Amino acid sequence: MDYAAADRTHVWHPFTQQRTWTEAEPLVIASAEGNWLVDTGGRRYLDGVASLWCNVHGHRHPHIDAAVTAQLAQVAHSTLLGLTSTAAVEAAAALTAVAPTRLTRVFFSENGAAAVEVALKMAFGYWRNVGEASRRSFLALDEAYHGDTLGAVSVGGIDLFHAAYAPLLFECFRAPTNLPRRSLDALLGPMDATLSAHAHEICAVVIEPRCQGAAGMITFPDGYLRGVRELCDRYDVLMICDEVATGFGRTGTMFACDSEAVTPDLMTVGKGITGGYLPMSATFATEAVYESFLGDPAEGRQLFHGHTYSGNALAAAACIANLEVFRDEDTLAHAEVAAAAMAARLDTIAEHDQVVDVRRAGMMVGIELDARAGAPGAAAVCARVRDLGVILRPLGPVIVWMPPLSITLDEVELLADATEKAIGELV
Ligand SMILES: *Cc1c(COP(=O)(O)O)cnc(C)c1O
Repeated sequence: MDYAAADRTHVWHPFTQQRTWTEAEPLVIASAEGNWLVDTGGRRYLDGVASLWCNVHGHRHPHIDAAVTAQLAQVAHSTLLGLTSTAAVEAAAALTAVAPTRLTRVFFSENGAAAVEVALKMAFGYWRNVGEASRRSFLALDEAYHGDTLGAVSVGGIDLFHAAYAPLLFECFRAPTNLPRRSLDALLGPMDATLSAHAHEICAVVIEPRCQGAAGMITFPDGYLRGVRELCDRYDVLMICDEVATGFGRTGTMFACDSEAVTPDLMTVGKGITGGYLPMSATFATEAVYESFLGDPAEGRQLFHGHTYSGNALAAAACIANLEVFRDEDTLAHAEVAAAAMAARLDTIAEHDQVVDVRRAGMMVGIELDARAGAPGAAAVCARVRDLGVILRPLGPVIVWMPPLSITLDEVELLADATEKAIGELV
């Protein structure tokens, strides 16, 4: 088959200007092994953005492969509407065992945006259930990204992605994040003021903990998470942490919330939940949120939301195996060593003339290039490193590194060498 021709004829790609796309020769991935992708010509590329931030232990990991194959011999999918399944129950138990304490309930969806929609509906429903129907809004952050469905876009704050749908979105309160001085006071002060004036209208504060990924890896200072938790407690609003990008070890701890021992009332995960194998996401809730939905069926308090593939057995098997690999291979310890190696190389990269800022939270790295010249710097670097055997995808002027946690130290050097070389060629 001529894959490039068939792609041009039939495939509509996400977030892509198709005219530009069809003018270029696409890279067609045929297989993968470990931290490497292999194209139809047999060329190998380091998966420098973990197949869009989701791969954790590398591709074709023997333990996860075996778990999915074994599940396939049992059942691929059965519904969670009116039935339950061994795989979904085991996945929920394994997930709550590693989640921050008090997050005891799991609702399964298939992608991060859906997990966010569910969290918004749970927060909205919670206040209605406890008799505070005046709470209909949310406090979200500037530059936020929570996925591409309309509710998730409403709490999002990236104009480039979201302006197209402005007429369809609900309004929410905002707190600034992209400030010249990102001190705790500068970040938390405006949130405090808004909550003080409007808490009675607000269901929840929604944040990406530690690092706003799609915004360009904008990191928060230590104490921010705790500060937001304290404000939510003081003004009695729920706290939603969107860990779709940060979850499963990406920032150094299993969840970013763990770094400040914070338990949100609702937490969303996706991307890394199956090790990057299969589409699955989850919304965690506390008992307090969950119990507010209990009642007589006639009262209509149940959560009116569901997805066909909720708790899919193959995805659940991959999820369980993913967590087993974290335990058996001490993935977080390895990731710490690899992240330190990345940090060492970033120190030199930061000194480059073209680089205006370098940000990192664990294995989430943003290298921001000078955009003043109007040059498509980050895109040019990502195109160039492909010739050097590395796949990267930029965010505006920011080069992103977000490899699988299983990246080896040699592979870190390759990633850094290729990036440095490509930046050096920019001038
Ligand atoms: C990627 C992402 C989402 C959306 O997840 P999808 O699976 O692409 O729908 C939501 N929130 C954050 C923080 C993300 O990085």
